[in-house]
Amino acid sequence: MEPDFSEGLERLRERGLLRELRTVINDNCGEIEFAGNRFVNFASNDYLGLSQHPAVAEAAREAIARYGIGAGASRLITGTHPPHRLLEEKLAAYKNAEASLVFSTGYAAALGIIPALVGAGDIVITDKLAHACLIDGIRLSGAVIRVFPHNHLGKLESHLRWARQHLSSSGRILIVTESVFSMDGDCAPLRSIIQLKNSFGALLLLDEAHATGLVGPGGRGLATALGLDEQIEVRMGTLSKALGVAGGFVVGSRQLISWLINRARSFIYSTAPPPLLCAAAAAALDVVLSEEGEALRATLAARIARLDDGLPNRFQRKNGAGAIFPLILGSEMAALDAASEAREQGLFIPPVRYPTVPKGQARLRATLTSLHSEQHLDRLIQWAQKIDERLARTSTKDSA
Ligand SMILES: *Cc1c(COP(=O)(O)O)cnc(C)c1O
Repeated sequence: MEPDFSEGLERLRERGLLRELRTVINDNCGEIEFAGNRFVNFASNDYLGLSQHPAVAEAAREAIARYGIGAGASRLITGTHPPHRLLEEKLAAYKNAEASLVFSTGYAAALGIIPALVGAGDIVITDKLAHACLIDGIRLSGAVIRVFPHNHLGKLESHLRWARQHLSSSGRILIVTESVFSMDGDCAPLRSIIQLKNSFGALLLLDEAHATGLVGPGGRGLATALGLDEQIEVRMGTLSKALGVAGGFVVGSRQLISWLINRARSFIYSTAPPPLLCAAAAAALDVVLSEEGEALRATLAARIARLDDGLPNRFQRKNGAGAIFPLILGSEMAALDAASEAREQGLFIPPVRYPTVPKGQARLRATLTSLHSEQHLDRLIQWAQKIDERLARTSTKDSA
């Protein structure tokens, strides 16, 4: 019998939650084309424009010439090729770690790492806003899960205390959080989290997906910027955002990496990432660490500062560290209206709604890249001011 999804799809449509794919043309200038129109692209994680960088593309072409396209087998069989090792050496050095391991995606990394670290009898404590792949990894592990409100140290501490009381002597406590949060663009109070972790004898998994390549000297991430590398047991990230390629990675001690090679199922039972992607990611890391990379980060920092200065008060972000701006509108309808108004002005800023964010916090999520011009930013600021004025008018009407 054919499964019937029509009712489910109709329900999504009625609630304004039906999502569909759009095919875009991206010529690497901060703008995209789709449906016959051109938009400033405020919805890309290609923060430094490396996805179309000539040196990155050239490294991929050279790797194709030498290694072809597919890896041919999983890493543990015959799928480990020189570009895999080269990239892992570079990543370990980049993140001041003993060793590293590459996965096909960041998502696969989380799904592999977390169940290798904890299982039934262990406890995972995580931030409410942790990325879906972290949540899925935790669920898959079978550990007991405790969630604390976003960046709430008091609640984290009480969960840690509870965990200490309820854990068997051989059990583990793992804290899972992000450094720069993907939806709110703010950063975790890392120093305090580490203090708590140490005093309760827990482990920490830090996801630097939105900080790697961007934050701190050389874009090494928040942990390195704060000098905390050695205090964090497991750090992961993605090759698909600021590095502009595809893949996930983890860095840590040699022992941790050996354990993951033996226990991370998404690593063991999946064909190795194509060598050409590892070669491209290694080249992207070289760019990130070069003077050119420094200049790209400086351009992006200037764009970020321009937006931080120009946004009306209601849209000012708190504790922002990366290039993500949550423009919080409140209701789903307000967010959808603001998004369509942006589109009319040639700005593409995707709305983010429940359940990705809590009810009443519907927003547009703008990400900046080094490809944006000052004019792009000024158009965004003008749109934000218009929305702000309208919201101010309606709220005075409401209170009158
Ligand atoms: C994007 C993202 C991932 C997943 O990385 P992919 O390489 O895209 O699979 C993991 N964690 C966070 C916080 C992310 O934002």
